[in-house]
Amino acid sequence: MLKNRGVYHIGIAVRSLTEGLALYRDQLGLSLEEEETLPERGLRVAILKGGNTEIELLESLSDDSAIGRFIAKRGPGIHHIAFEVENIEESLRQLKEQGVRLVDEVPRPGASQTKVAFLHPAGAGGVLVELVEKPKA
Ligand code: ZN
Repeated sequence: MLKNRGVYHIGIAVRSLTEGLALYRDQLGLSLEEEETLPERGLRVAILKGGNTEIELLESLSDDSAIGRFIAKRGPGIHHIAFEVENIEESLRQLKEQGVRLVDEVPRPGASQTKVAFLHPAGAGGVLVELVEKPKA
């Protein structure tokens, strides 16, 4: 079993961060912590917080990124749920051993110097699950 520290954030695909911030910051009252561009993933990301909860808004930089394809197919909305794990390499190894379908067998760089990896939604009850390991302090 993984050492799961709980929900790290909920990822939401938006047509634009401007549109997303108008709702989640200006209307729902979450605070904007950080905006970051992840060119290797074709993404712009905004991290918002309210209490212990974090929301990750995802804007695509191109139509052929994962988020661009998601929005083209289903429109904006909830994209994934991220859980924080202690050791992402070890977690992926365990899941693979248990036959869980992985999108990423090797972690990739996430926002705020985290390491992230995705499980395949087909093997996770239709939910795109992300694992996140925070940078060591
Ligand atoms: Zn995420």
